[in-house]
Amino acid sequence: MHAVIIAVGDELTSGAVVDTNSAYLAARLGELGIETVRHETVGDDVPALIEAISRAAAQAELVIITGGLGPTPDDLTRQALASALGTKLVEDPRQARRIEEFFSRRGRQMKPSNRAQALVPRGAEAIDNDCGTAPGLTATVGKARLFVLPGPPHEMRQMFTLRVLPELSAETALATRLVHTFGAGESDVAEAIADLMDRRANPRLGTTAQAGVVTVRITARGPDAQAAERLAEKTAELVRARLGELAFGADGETLPAVVGSLLRSAGQTLAVAESCTGGLLGALLTETPGASEYFLGGVVAYANEAKACLLDVPQEMLLAHGAVSEPVAEHMAAGARRCFGAEWGIGLTGIAGPTGGSKEKPLGLVYIAVAGPRAGAVHRHVFPGTREVVRRRAALAALNHLRLALKRP
Ligand code: ATP
Ligand code: MG
Repeated sequence: MHAVIIAVGDELTSGAVVDTNSAYLAARLGELGIETVRHETVGDDVPALIEAISRAAAQAELVIITGGLGPTPDDLTRQALASALGTKLVEDPRQARRIEEFFSRRGRQMKPSNRAQALVPRGAEAIDNDCGTAPGLTATVGKARLFVLPGPPHEMRQMFTLRVLPELSAETALATRLVHTFGAGESDVAEAIADLMDRRANPRLGTTAQAGVVTVRITARGPDAQAAERLAEKTAELVRARLGELAFGADGETLPAVVGSLLRSAGQTLAVAESCTGGLLGALLTETPGASEYFLGGVVAYANEAKACLLDVPQEMLLAHGAVSEPVAEHMAAGARRCFGAEWGIGLTGIAGPTGGSKEKPLGLVYIAVAGPRAGAVHRHVFPGTREVVRRRAALAALNHLRLALKRP
């Protein structure tokens, strides 16, 4: 469903007041999967309003107007709506009573101008206002559902939340699925599913990226919750199939948790040896409750002496190849396995920066070795970004290499 939002008032077109209503409404509609395709601001002018209403109703299935419902002569939205509908204004007795009560409860006199707020275009319906006098209006203009809400932001929000939202959410049930990937850039992921990413399609797909994890968000709409869930799940399966090994989890699943459950179901254990991540890998692994079932422990071997002493990395190798090298990573992984008696070992050594890089060994260079019960492999990466980003990416990449190794037969 698409929406157009119209903000009404000279105070807005003149710049005296900033239109916050439209931003609020667009955000709330977005949560329902309703896409706002246009915002329009119109002064207190009946012909301009009639034109805006007709144009909006031709463009979108939902039109929301805020402002110009008050008792003063410059509040013209109800007249404009009556003209757009080709009908006259008639008094709604129920609203007239509510407005009278509103004033008598506060011990105030009702002016005749307030009574004008009970006028409703024939063919439209009043919406109760729970915190002010002006009722809102709703009508069908052409094929569009139209809602008119008061201008003052607190009244508008309350009426939208209490009176409009329930109607809109009853019409569109929404379901969301997330598919998380690791190992490819956001544009590569988007390319693999480009044909599914049509912005007007149902379901709607989008991507986000954080610390190397690229997530595909699927938002499906349907006539009821079950239909929306079915469509979302079907699409998530399609996305997973497209992305293959890149996809590691769904919804709330994290890379450490997924690796953990693979280890658990294989009945195998893991130990790690870290240099430039300084324990970050161990920290990620122990984020998941129950990690003790598969994670035995880790060694933070930062100095060369620590690598030699704790992990049996030969001094000559450290001298010949440097601490950030393929053979050292390999020996660290093997050392971690041996030291803890684990089936799997990870060795991680790199240059996190911001200094210490060279031509042969640039900043962000990281070697990740994974040693398993059958064989091992060493992966070379050059991660872009700050020290913090490089360290985090390195730790996640290590988990991802282990995940892929665990999945290989
Ligand atoms: P009232 O009965 O208060 O006159 P109304 O529905 O006629 O209500 P307006 O006269 O259009 O509303 O606006 C009243 C006040 O609400 C404005 O002076 C302004 O301060 C605020 N307002 C109106 N529209 C917006 C908007 N789009 N964004 C932020 N504030 C707004
Ligand atoms: Mg007003």
